[in-house]
Amino acid sequence: MRVGLTGGIGSGKTAVSKLFEEFGAFVIDTDVLAREAVAPNSDGFLAISRAWPEAVRHGVLDRAVLAETVFADPVARERLNALVHPHVRRLAFEREANARPGQLLVHVVPLLFETHYDALVDKTVLVAAPEAARLARIADRDHLDEARVRARMAAQIAPELARARADYVIDNDGDLAALRARARAIYGRLTELPGGS
Ligand code: ATP
Repeated sequence: MRVGLTGGIGSGKTAVSKLFEEFGAFVIDTDVLAREAVAPNSDGFLAISRAWPEAVRHGVLDRAVLAETVFADPVARERLNALVHPHVRRLAFEREANARPGQLLVHVVPLLFETHYDALVDKTVLVAAPEAARLARIADRDHLDEARVRARMAAQIAPELARARADYVIDNDGDLAALRARARAIYGRLTELPGGS
């Protein structure tokens, strides 16, 4: 059973992925793999440095500069996605070989629906949170200003569309104890499914 876990920026998907891991899942974080996919001298890095030389500083990709460039420009964003996503997917599916037999496989994918990654998984789980909570959590965590956070939100599918497409929704509108309880309930449902072990 392969699950795609998603949610908008600051929704709490990383927090849920940590809980799923604690409950026994094998978690593959595509954000981490996206960094690997552009490691110095990787194919992804070389392709990006040809397209956006200004984003390379001292032989290393400056992800903040790259993010600023592409979040302002939908065409550039598409181009970046087309360069990086195939590498990330290959790395993600290679990682599955490290799971124990029968372990629930959870791919954490920020742009699950936008990039059609949902077609590669059996079930999808959305972590949803009110916009005000998301803005506050990101301001605390990353010290990004509201305009930058809103630009990133605008690059993601609208929350109500994601809700309509997801098989399961975990509402993260309470404290961390409430999140744990909701994540536990959904994890239980996933592992009861045929093939969910
Ligand atoms: P991003 O897309 O930006 O990586 P994310 O969806 O992975 O965000 P998290 O990193 O899980 O979101 O959560 C954002 C921040 O909010 C983290 O610091 C996390 O610990 C905190 N957080 C998440 N849920 C709650 C909650 N219910 N109560 C308090 N803090 C929370």
